[in-house]
Amino acid sequence: MAQQFNTITRDDIKKNNRVRIFKALQTSGRMSSQELSRKLDLSIPTVNKNLISMEEDQLLLSPGQRGNTGGRSSKIYEVNSKQRYAIAVAITRHHISGVAVDLSGRLTCQVRYSQVYCRQDSYFRKLGRVVDELLVTGNINRDKVLGVAIVLPALITKDGRQTYYNGVLNDDPVMECEEFSKYISFPTAFFHDTEAAAYAERSVDEDTSDFFYMMISDSLGGGVMLHNQPYVGKHNRSGEVGHIKIMENGKKCYCGGNGCLEAYCSTRVLSAICDGDLADYFQLLEEKDERALQLWEKYLNHLAHGINTIRLLFDCKVVVGGYLGQFAEKYLSQLQDKVKELDPFSDDVSYLSFCKYKNEAAATGAALMYIDEFISSI
Ligand SMILES: [Zn+2]
Repeated sequence: MAQQFNTITRDDIKKNNRVRIFKALQTSGRMSSQELSRKLDLSIPTVNKNLISMEEDQLLLSPGQRGNTGGRSSKIYEVNSKQRYAIAVAITRHHISGVAVDLSGRLTCQVRYSQVYCRQDSYFRKLGRVVDELLVTGNINRDKVLGVAIVLPALITKDGRQTYYNGVLNDDPVMECEEFSKYISFPTAFFHDTEAAAYAERSVDEDTSDFFYMMISDSLGGGVMLHNQPYVGKHNRSGEVGHIKIMENGKKCYCGGNGCLEAYCSTRVLSAICDGDLADYFQLLEEKDERALQLWEKYLNHLAHGINTIRLLFDCKVVVGGYLGQFAEKYLSQLQDKVKELDPFSDDVSYLSFCKYKNEAAATGAALMYIDEFISSI
């Protein structure tokens, strides 16, 4: 069998240096060429050449000088954050959220509406209005927008143009991106919410390149991050742990099966005793309400079972995000104790944490994917 080798050209190396310098500035903020040279182990002429060309391309700004070494001060650089933006609109059963992220990867503005999902023209018009509102609120020039991500709790084809499973939204399996983009005058693509939320988490946890992200909200899904990139599987549905069966002849799940983890561990299980309000449920728990306490104990047992299965499969860090991650931080050790009892190999449960990125993770993660794709092409 013929063996193939990937050859790296001088142009690849030059481009790689340019991207590395840009990303270092994106992460660290302002830096001089000397600081970049030390951080990236590149020669100062190489760094300078790239900085000058990126400043000419208006990707970088030079807001001033720093230090005074041997009578010479050095010019400092930063990302021209207003040069490009990505927008994301995240759809759930009961809400629409919108975010705008700038070229430095910063969330610049966000909106959120209570709006029940329905596949009607009025709903798609609303999506268009959310995008327009973000442009106005964020004072964003239309020419600077890379695209609009439409984030769904649905399974999406690899080209981002279609859904092929819509159990959470309880709609037709196949829906076209064009239909949702009718009132959005930018390039658009569908994004899977769990994968996008995992991507946002990656942006705030530099120590971890491999982890499993459990997104536990009104529905339960997962995303696999491998070597700092989403591992999506052959059909873009890796990590769908919500449908692991944890109970024979158990509760009915929206997938049509019985006893799925989803049916026991979505946040709806908790909020059901508070008219669907998860904040109210955690308030009851805080007040040590007997009914809330009993439900929590059962819930954690099921969740620990799911987490232990993921740990056995992947042997990596597990991050619990979604609505649950926003509220349950103070109960981490209680959950860790339950997971520890199930682990056949180790007592170390430090691999388990709640998410660090708590604000509109799915929408922000999808917008960050647009921004990162642009950066890889600069
Ligand atoms: Zn299921």
